[in-house]
Amino acid sequence: MQIKCPSNNIPERKYAIQVLFNNLLGVGLTEQDICFDDSVQDYHISTGGKQIIVQDHFFQRFPKPLSYLQRSNIPDKVDYFHAFGWEIPMVYGVDVFQEEGDCLTVGLDIFASTFFWMTRWEESLLGRDEKGDCSESQLFSVRNSLHQRPIVHEYERLLRKLLGDCGVHFKERQYKVILTHDVDGMLTPTYADIMRDFFDQKKNGPPQNTILNLTWKSERNYKRAFPTAFSQFEFYTHLAKKYDIVEWFYFKVCATGEEEATYCHNDQKVKRVISQLQRLNNPNLLLGFHPSQTTFNNEPQWDIESQRIMELLGLKPTIGRNHHLLYNLPMLRLWEKTFSSDVSPLDISNCVFHGRNGFRCGVAVPFPLFDYYDRRQMNLIEHPNQIMDTVIRYNYDHYSDENRWNGEYSIIDKVKEINGELVLTWHIYIRRQNIIENGFGWCERMLEYAVQK
Ligand SMILES: [Zn+2]
Repeated sequence: MQIKCPSNNIPERKYAIQVLFNNLLGVGLTEQDICFDDSVQDYHISTGGKQIIVQDHFFQRFPKPLSYLQRSNIPDKVDYFHAFGWEIPMVYGVDVFQEEGDCLTVGLDIFASTFFWMTRWEESLLGRDEKGDCSESQLFSVRNSLHQRPIVHEYERLLRKLLGDCGVHFKERQYKVILTHDVDGMLTPTYADIMRDFFDQKKNGPPQNTILNLTWKSERNYKRAFPTAFSQFEFYTHLAKKYDIVEWFYFKVCATGEEEATYCHNDQKVKRVISQLQRLNNPNLLLGFHPSQTTFNNEPQWDIESQRIMELLGLKPTIGRNHHLLYNLPMLRLWEKTFSSDVSPLDISNCVFHGRNGFRCGVAVPFPLFDYYDRRQMNLIEHPNQIMDTVIRYNYDHYSDENRWNGEYSIIDKVKEINGELVLTWHIYIRRQNIIENGFGWCERMLEYAVQK
């Protein structure tokens, strides 16, 4: 197979082609199979004596490097491409599908659209650079109600059909489930803590910050339900074993006095939890890093915490996710510099929605990240997350009874359908005991459904 394309935006085009053909289709394309030639206007894919022309409706317009990175280039409304009875959302392209002899022309710019979904360059223009986050309601996917569709896999399905008809063979994927946990708080109060807070709250009233502090009554109930720091971990590790799935825990490593410190990294109880998890000796269970929000745009704090996590775990973490999902490209470069190499890229799972469940980058398989400012593929593998306990909790009252779980189930169905990787997040934290126990129930319900054939 050979792919010929215009010789501008070379790293960007190469990335989009390689993720589609190698990470998704498993065709095993080499560097030599892609060539750049200014005699062509579009992407020319030649295979099995046939030619597929994928029209270029984006990068050609911005031959100067990085000049595409403008807010005005994020489309407002979605258009659709029609072929084989499918209606496929386009980011860039036109609804043209023609066959002439051995040549097929596809108006959907599969490559620029894939690049848009997977690199998230849109987000740097919507605020992530300044505060590590952007308003989800501004995202193209959310504005166009596409967030519950893994769109890149719709492009993949189209390519499978087109290339399959030319005799190309693909590597099949295996569906997989990963249960992840952000360890945001775990130190169960002692009876002395509860007594102290009882007197303190009698005198000064209930706590101001209800995210970080419980009332003494809630502390008492929490203590009854979760007598040790390991209690919540125990529930989830049993569940992961019961359903035979992979499980990842991300630990925060704050110290007393630091912003939103919920436990101290060198507390004996934290070390005990880590060694209890390590003693389970489960090859499917990994421990990783959950950098605090103060590491965002703060390299000295990043250095402190990355040192702490290595001391706490006794090894270099191989998995990670940022607390509050606060990250940008400089932050991803820190992850890469500290923990990654081209022989063992770090597995990161930052691509998650805060306020809704779904497919933030349109993909549900692991893929290498791309640094769109430095214009290079990174040594970081992203595992996009689709379902998070907090989303269910925040929206629970809005779900009507009969439809309560349909949204989550349909997300799981879509991941199964494409043999993707379902990544779920259930937090470990100190909250009212009934909130956590509800979460246990939701987690089991999701896993039960997720592992069904
Ligand atoms: Zn967190």
